[in-house]
Amino acid sequence: MSLSTGNRLKWVKQSEIRNMSIECEKHGGINLSQGVCDLEVPSIVAQGAKQAIDDGVNAYTRYDGLNELREAIAKRQKNFSGMEVDPENEIVVSSGATGALFSAFLALLNAGDEVILFEPYYGYHAINLVSTLAVPVYVRMTPPDWTFSREDLDKVVTKKTKAILINTPGNPSGKVFTTEELKTISEFAIENDLFVFTDEIYEYFVYDDRQHIPPASLPGMRERTIMVSGLSKTYSITGWRVGYVICDAKWSTAIGYFSDMLYACAPAPLQMGAAMGLIHLGPEFYDNISKEYQKKRDRICDALNTAGLTPFVPQGAYYVLCDISGIPGSSGKKKVMHLLKEIKVASVPGEAFYHDAAGENLTRFCFAKEDTVLNEACRRLESYGSKNL
Ligand code: PLP
Repeated sequence: MSLSTGNRLKWVKQSEIRNMSIECEKHGGINLSQGVCDLEVPSIVAQGAKQAIDDGVNAYTRYDGLNELREAIAKRQKNFSGMEVDPENEIVVSSGATGALFSAFLALLNAGDEVILFEPYYGYHAINLVSTLAVPVYVRMTPPDWTFSREDLDKVVTKKTKAILINTPGNPSGKVFTTEELKTISEFAIENDLFVFTDEIYEYFVYDDRQHIPPASLPGMRERTIMVSGLSKTYSITGWRVGYVICDAKWSTAIGYFSDMLYACAPAPLQMGAAMGLIHLGPEFYDNISKEYQKKRDRICDALNTAGLTPFVPQGAYYVLCDISGIPGSSGKKKVMHLLKEIKVASVPGEAFYHDAAGENLTRFCFAKEDTVLNEACRRLESYGSKNL
């Protein structure tokens, strides 16, 4: 047989995040690798979806999502950030933020277009760009605050640069971009006439009184920004696959067509459940997310410090990168496998977030876990550190 897999497969590696989840299951460990929150779904959201099934909301929806959900997204966006969004023409409901970004890349990028990605990056951003034949170009941020300069951006821009991607709050770094940094990026994007893709899926997970600033809200940015978010993290419904794009009407139809072609629509009753959450949950629900997760962040950062695995304390999102240079192994992967075998706690090796070996002394833990699970993982880390580091 002369059949073989297509060329794209060579460029697309199996996600290390998924690999580690499989390894974790094999070893019966606590899975702090994948960004799956095991917290409770708000009852209004769950009930909304169940009711929608009973009410017969079971068919394909309009290609850009249910009216109820688009209207609820527009209202929520206005209340949260003051942005005016037209629910009829400027929102595309998608199969998660993942589907939104993939559809947007297909709709707006050509083969060979370069897209600037801040490093460390979320693996799917790089892989999805490569899958759509675009070329990621990296700007490395400097810890502990994951800073960068205008010169860093100027150094990588070429005639082929078509876009820049901002993930704020960021995975895996936990970086929350400041207004100053967003101004730097917006001036750069305007001068070089670039699209700005954003991934704001962790918009409600910000710590120490920081504020999430949607890049589209900066002067001159609305028209060129393809803002992506979703409800996976906010309502702990990662398996429901409900996300969305907010963008100028010039781009939304094209993005919607690709979203339709890839998966027709996000699951109809689950769109309704998400809409019920957006309609009925008040500001205190969203404020509480930051409060609750900040406690979890502090718990795991304390444990990592005690263990001798110095963390880069995250400003937002629900991951923490930490230093694993003291753990045996010649690569990040070997080090995290050592930790998994020793204490049965899984994390993601740092190489997964860099295009070269730069992450080999880092690992990422996800702290979106019930307190009992998180406390047990912390206890194991502390005990490992006290014996070995
Ligand atoms: N974007 C980032 C930065 C993420 O960390 C994740 C999940 O871990 C996603 C997107 C996936 O979002 P969704 O479930 O809406 O596809």
